[in-house]
Amino acid sequence: MSLRDLLIERIARTGPIGLADYMQACLMHPDHGYYATRDPLGVAGDFTTAPEISQMFGELIGLSLAQCWLDQGAPQRIVLAELGPGRGTLMADALRATRAVPGFHAALSVHLVEASPTLRARQAATLAAYAPEWHDTPETLPDAPLFLIANEFFDALPIRQFQRAENGWRERVVGLRDDALVLGLTDPAPVAALDHRLEDTAPGDIVETCAPAAAIAAGIGARIKAHGGAALIADYGDWRSMGDTFQAIEAHRAADPFAHPGEADLTAHVDFEALAAATPSAFTRLTPQGVFLERLGITARAQALAQGLSGQALETHIAAHRRLTHPEEMGTVFKILGYFPDGAAPPPGLDT
Ligand code: SAH
Repeated sequence: MSLRDLLIERIARTGPIGLADYMQACLMHPDHGYYATRDPLGVAGDFTTAPEISQMFGELIGLSLAQCWLDQGAPQRIVLAELGPGRGTLMADALRATRAVPGFHAALSVHLVEASPTLRARQAATLAAYAPEWHDTPETLPDAPLFLIANEFFDALPIRQFQRAENGWRERVVGLRDDALVLGLTDPAPVAALDHRLEDTAPGDIVETCAPAAAIAAGIGARIKAHGGAALIADYGDWRSMGDTFQAIEAHRAADPFAHPGEADLTAHVDFEALAAATPSAFTRLTPQGVFLERLGITARAQALAQGLSGQALETHIAAHRRLTHPEEMGTVFKILGYFPDGAAPPPGLDT
């Protein structure tokens, strides 16, 4: 039975389901889920990400975290963690770049939070030399100073959508019409978690919530507050997102999120205000990715790497630098939020 048939049967039996349940099933169903069953990254896949575009991204992230470690007195046993590490490329680049930081590698152990068995296998191959440990959730990370990166992780977490009505909020839910999966609206009801959105919305506007994102952000921030460390959260989104940002990508193109359940990547923009509100630690100003990478010296790094390149390889390298930083490419749409302990210096590349 296909995932589409399974969802139709479920909805016929128990009624419409929220977008979060729909997203969770499409992405993570053990037999049919998008991430559970494939490696979606790269040219042959559905989308590509900053670490897959250039080694410079992971290198600079790694060096920023290593500088935080130095700034915090180089604690002796630390956790270097990544949420949703994909192919393990970012972590591999970060580890290679930080080999020259005295004592850093001796102090760290590598921990990966990954739900997909397929991607865990990729990560195991890429990172074998570092003997990583895998986790289903960040809750089981060891209690130690935590240096963490999450790139394009939070956008994959299940969201709910609400449309403002005259007297409350209607939730957008997935139901059936003539055997097709279609969006519908519940009756209006008050939603306490959306009280703060009454000030910036009007009837008809759509807002999104992501309960798992807030819970994960709170957990990470609590560890950094208690034990020290830093987190760099990189993703597309904004401070307080507005409107319908739910999207499907299939073979590098926008697709209908309800047409082929389990076959397309489903994401939503990240509401960074919610991630900042959830953390008990200090947090940085939300910073465009291009600005962050320029402050960390990506242009000097790009020039050094260019020395050894010519022809097509040089063209590709120059295009990759532009793609990561230019405002019309990933430089502005993607943003970085940092967490750090009260009283410590913010991660290099970010400010408060
Ligand atoms: N960070 C990588 C991959 C981004 S794709 C990169 O930049 O290339 C999203 C990643 O998050 C994948 O590894 C996916 O399997 C993982 N993921 C998505 N939802 C998850 C969840 N709920 N728990 C753990 N991992 C998840």
